[in-house]
Amino acid sequence: MKYAIEYAKETIRDKVISYGFTTNLTLLNEKIAKYLASVGNMHILCSIDGPEDVHDRCRVFKNGEGTHKQVMKNFDILVNAFKNVKNSTVKVNSVLTPPFTFEKMNYINNYFNKYKNKIKDFSVEITYPVDGSLPEEFYDETLQVSNVIDRWNKDSFYKKYDTCINEEMVWKDLFRIHNRLITQQASNWVPFNACCVPGARRIYVDTKGYIYPCERIGKAPILGHVDYGIKLDELLKNYIIDYSKKSIDSCKNCWAVKMCPICYVNRMTEKEISEKAHLNCELYRQAIKSDLSFYHSMLNNNPERLKKINEISYY
Ligand code: SF4
Ligand code: SF4
Repeated sequence: MKYAIEYAKETIRDKVISYGFTTNLTLLNEKIAKYLASVGNMHILCSIDGPEDVHDRCRVFKNGEGTHKQVMKNFDILVNAFKNVKNSTVKVNSVLTPPFTFEKMNYINNYFNKYKNKIKDFSVEITYPVDGSLPEEFYDETLQVSNVIDRWNKDSFYKKYDTCINEEMVWKDLFRIHNRLITQQASNWVPFNACCVPGARRIYVDTKGYIYPCERIGKAPILGHVDYGIKLDELLKNYIIDYSKKSIDSCKNCWAVKMCPICYVNRMTEKEISEKAHLNCELYRQAIKSDLSFYHSMLNNNPERLKKINEISYY
C-alpha cells in the first residue's frame, strides 16, 4: 500500500488525490498508523461489529479466537494517530449480525458513541451481511425484524437521539424524495433509474487491470482495460441500450420511477443486465413509499431540520 501511495503521489502531481481503504485492523501497528496519518486525504473504514460479544461471534483468527481485543487496541492506536489530522477520516463499518433488532442497534450505537469526542467526523455505518456470508446456524435469527437498519436510522434521526450512526443514508433518502421531478402535468419521461453514466463519476480498476463503473458493482461487463482504455461502443451497448431495452417495460408503468434508487449494482451479469433485475422491485417500492411518508412527516413536524437539504448534493 505504501508503494502504491508513494507511486501515485510521485506520478500524479497536478491532481488532489484522496486515498481510502477498509481494514479489519488486525495487522495495524504504531508505525503503519503514523505513516497513514502523514499521507493526507486519507479515509479509513474499520470493520468492527460492536462490543466484544457481538464482534467475536463472527470475526475470529484462524485458531478460532476472537479478534476484538487486538482490533480495539489497534483502533485506539489509529484514532490517536489521526486525532489532529485535517482532511482525513477514521470511520467504522459494522456488519449487523443477528438478532436484527432495535436493541442490538442501540447496543452497537452505545458502544461506539464514546469515539465521537475522540476523533473529528467519526461515524458508524451499520450494514447487513452480504448474502450467503453468515454461518447457517444464524439463519433463523435473521428473520426477526425486517428492514431494521433503515427503520432504526430514521427513528433516531426523527427523534434526534444521540447517535454516532452515519446519518448520510437518511439524508440520501430524503434528498432523493425532495429532488424528485414534480410537473404540473403528467409526464411520460422515464429516468434511467438512479444509474450513473458509467465511467464518468468514477472508475474502478481491479488487480488484473480491468475497468468497471465502481467498486460496488460486483459482477458486470467490463468498461475496458488499463492497456487499451474504455471501449465506448461496448459501454453504450451493455450499460445504456440493452439495459434500457430490458428495463423499460417494467419501469414505464411503475409509479416509483421518478424516485427509484436502483442502479447497476447487483443487477448485472458479466455480460448484460440480469434476467432477475426486476425481481425485488416490489420491495423497493415499499421502501420508497416509506421514504415518502418519512419525508412528509419531517416536512410537517420538523421543517427546520429539513432546511439543510437545500445545501447538500449527492450527485
Ligand atoms: S453505486 Fe451505482 S450509481 Fe454509484 S457509481 Fe456505482 S454503479 Fe454508478
Ligand atoms: S422499482 Fe423497479 S420497476 Fe420501478 S422504476 Fe425502479 S427498477 Fe423500475
